[in-house]
Amino acid sequence: MRSESCKRAVYSDNLPDTSVIICFHNEAWSVLLRTVHSILNRSPERLLKEIILVDDYSDMEHLGKPLEDYVAKLGKVKIVRTEKREGLVRARILGYGVAKGTVLTFLDSHIECYPGWLKPLLDRIAKDNTTVVAPTIGMINEKSFSSHCSEPSSVGIFHIKDMTFNWGSITDRARAGRKTSADPYKTPTIAGGLFSISKAYFTHIGTYDSGMDIWGGENLEISFRVWMCGGSLEISPCSKVSHIFRKKSPYKWGKSYNEILRKNSVRLAEVWLDEYKHYYYERLMYRLGDYGDVSERKALRERLKCKSFKWYIENVFPELDLPKRGIYTGEIRSLAAPLCIDSMSPRRRSDIRPIHCHGMGGNQFWSLLDTGEVQRDNICIEVSDTQKIIFNTCSGTKWSYTEDKHMVHKQTNKCLELTSDTRNVVLADCRLYKNQEWQWGRKREE
Ligand code: UDP
Ligand code: MN
Repeated sequence: MRSESCKRAVYSDNLPDTSVIICFHNEAWSVLLRTVHSILNRSPERLLKEIILVDDYSDMEHLGKPLEDYVAKLGKVKIVRTEKREGLVRARILGYGVAKGTVLTFLDSHIECYPGWLKPLLDRIAKDNTTVVAPTIGMINEKSFSSHCSEPSSVGIFHIKDMTFNWGSITDRARAGRKTSADPYKTPTIAGGLFSISKAYFTHIGTYDSGMDIWGGENLEISFRVWMCGGSLEISPCSKVSHIFRKKSPYKWGKSYNEILRKNSVRLAEVWLDEYKHYYYERLMYRLGDYGDVSERKALRERLKCKSFKWYIENVFPELDLPKRGIYTGEIRSLAAPLCIDSMSPRRRSDIRPIHCHGMGGNQFWSLLDTGEVQRDNICIEVSDTQKIIFNTCSGTKWSYTEDKHMVHKQTNKCLELTSDTRNVVLADCRLYKNQEWQWGRKREE
């Protein structure tokens, strides 16, 4: 799986050892053992301190006694179990608590490590223990279980409107300072499932936010924290580990996916995003939900004297595409009926219709910009040649929102009107009429 330059790379004789921490909830037997055996078979004996399997309250039969009997024969592998379903953050913290290695290596429970995977990770941490290193992640096919690992082609990024992780292209900045193709790349964020970090450094920067549940958000949280508090994140092209990417989550979440993700993301936004949190909150229409207490995490940020999020964006991820902030944002709600302006789809050339207000943002989220455009993700509410209201490429349609709560189309001086059957919106001569009155979600204050 490795390139020739990786095979030739020479690492220090004095590398620190690692505890590998693998959390799982209801993992398949063969998949879990493929993970464990690939680590045992392909890690230098001295460098692998132990493998800690953290069972996050699984109820599958085979993960009880059968797993204990099996791993007892392997040496080096121990099992710890949570007492209730905790989610991956608190499960990892539990593993961290019992780990004895100098370095912690977190891995998912459905992966395969390839020959030579470990040294390139440990080598970077040996050189600077504030470096956090992720392997190049390949794919195990979820149906055939065949695996494939190519050269790294992307770095980790994120979208601020919904605080989601994504892969982005490798920039010149990420390549800066590399001498050979075996050298690592800097990355703005990590995917979160697979990485190595010095145990002392993990302690120093405040492990994880234990208020985060089940899944999600923790990878961005640790990414921002490491960069803002003096460390750095890298992807190693020589360390190869493949992972099963599933189309949907196979286990129970308890609450809804959206609710959990929102809680975790709001916690991280409150603590790390400074004024940038409004980009995200706007899209949530400021319905932050109950995200618990983040005062300890804010105190941690104070104590570590971390830099601002603005610094992070300017220095680590200047490619971030910041949405344009509107004067008015949120839903455009009719005062004549409980209906909101909806684009029906996030794509261009979809219809604009009045739809039952759902309060979830999505296709009912809008921004009225200084320019007069009403848009979402750079697609506008436009008026076609036949005066139809459509969602399309911005081509100069301008609106103003008046004290009478009218949405005035500047080009024709006509007003947005809810038809009397409430099934459509049209342009009509402006007058005092409930069907021409609209309430925007929020006026910008900050
Ligand atoms: N996990 C866990 N408890 C949970 C959710 C996830 O221990 O409540 C484990 C899961 O078994 C996996 C890791 O955390 O080993 C990451 O989760 P998953 O693979 O579902 O995330 P993905 O890779 O799909 O982002
Ligand atoms: Mn996974």
